[in-house]
Amino acid sequence: MNRSDILYWLCENRPEKLPKLWQWANRVRRENAGGEIHLRGLIEISNHCVRQCAYCGLRHDNRNLERYRMNKMEIMESVRKAVHLGFGTIVLQAGEDPGITSEWMADLIRRIKSETSLAVALNLGERNERELAIWRQAGADRYLLRFESSNQKLYQKYHPARPFQTGDRFDLLRVLKKLRYEVGSGIMIGLPGQTFDSLIRDIQLLKELELDMVAVGPYIINPETPLGKSWAEHLARPEFQVPNSDEMAYKTMAVTRIICPLSNIPVTTATASVGGRDGLEVGLGRGANVFMPNLTPANYRCKYRIYPSKSRFSVDDFDSLSHLRFRIKKLGRRLGEGRGDSKRYVAEIKRSIFQELIS
Ligand code: SAH
Repeated sequence: MNRSDILYWLCENRPEKLPKLWQWANRVRRENAGGEIHLRGLIEISNHCVRQCAYCGLRHDNRNLERYRMNKMEIMESVRKAVHLGFGTIVLQAGEDPGITSEWMADLIRRIKSETSLAVALNLGERNERELAIWRQAGADRYLLRFESSNQKLYQKYHPARPFQTGDRFDLLRVLKKLRYEVGSGIMIGLPGQTFDSLIRDIQLLKELELDMVAVGPYIINPETPLGKSWAEHLARPEFQVPNSDEMAYKTMAVTRIICPLSNIPVTTATASVGGRDGLEVGLGRGANVFMPNLTPANYRCKYRIYPSKSRFSVDDFDSLSHLRFRIKKLGRRLGEGRGDSKRYVAEIKRSIFQELIS
C-alpha cells in the first residue's frame, strides 16, 4: 500500500466499499499471523504517574484519582491467576511511576520467570537504557511504548517532556531493539489537531520501525483532563481532522495489518470500549489477532481510569474464559497456546542464529 492507497482507505466512508478492506485485512492476518487468537493478561500495577499528558486521566495533576501501587504479593496472585487460566503472556502496565524502581521491578520479573513459563511484557512508559537493560537481563521479554503521534508539534503539546529531558520515544524504541526485546508501539487515532497527513506518516512509521506488536486505538475524551475540557478548540479544519470514531480506529487497524503482516495486533481496550458489545468480534475480523483481558483486581481496576467508560471486559475466572472461548469459536478461530511470540521476531531470531552458525 502506498501513500495514496492508505489515504483512499482512511477516507473511504461508503458502507458498501468498506467490506473489501475488512476482507483484505482478514486474509492478510490469516495468511501471516494465522488463525489463533492470543490472550495477554493485563495487570495494571500502578496508577501513579509523573507525566502531564493532556489526554490521560492518570496525569500527575489529576487530583480526582485515588492512587495505588500493587505490592508484589498482589501482583503474584494475579500472575498465578493468568497461569491458572492458561494465558501465555502477562502485560504489566502502569503510569510512569518512579516508585517502581529498577531493582524492585527486576526482582518481580525474576520471581515471575522462575515460578512460571509466562512471557512478560512491560508497558511502564519512558525508562532509561540502564533500567531497560536490567529488566531484560531479569527476563522481561517484551516492551510496549507507543509513540502516540509522529507529529512532533502535536506530540509535544499533548505529551510534555519531563524537565531537562528530551524524552524521544523513537530513541527508546531503538534501545529496546538493541536490547533484543520484542518491541511494540502504537498510536492514538483522532487526537484533536491530528490530520490525515500525519496519520498516514504514523502508519508508515509503524512499518519502518519493524515492530513485533502494533497497537492502535481511538482517542477517548476524558473530561477530567485539560484536553478533555478543551478538545473542540484544538481541532484541525474539518476536512483534515481525523475523527476519533470506532470506524476510524478499525480502518487504521485494517490498513496497519496489511502493511505489517507479521506483527501481533491487539483489539485495544480503547477500541473495545468504543466498539460496543461486539467490538471484540469486529476487531478480530478486521486484522487483529490478540486480545488483552484485564486481570487487575477489581478494587484497583476501577482506579486505573485513563478515560471514562473503559471496557469492563475482563476474563478472570473460568466462566468468563469459556464464554470468551465460545465467542471466539463462533468466529471460526481458536485460542492460541503458549507465548504467542510475533512471527516477525521468531523469524529474526532464527536468522541471527543461522548467521552465527555459518560465521
Ligand atoms: N505510562 C505508559 C502506559 C500508559 S497507559 C506509557 O506512557 O507508555 C496505556 C495507553 O493508554 C497509552 O499508551 C495511551 O496511548 C493510552 N491512553 C491514554 N489516555 C488515553 C485517552 N484519553 N484515550 C485513548 N487512549 C489513551
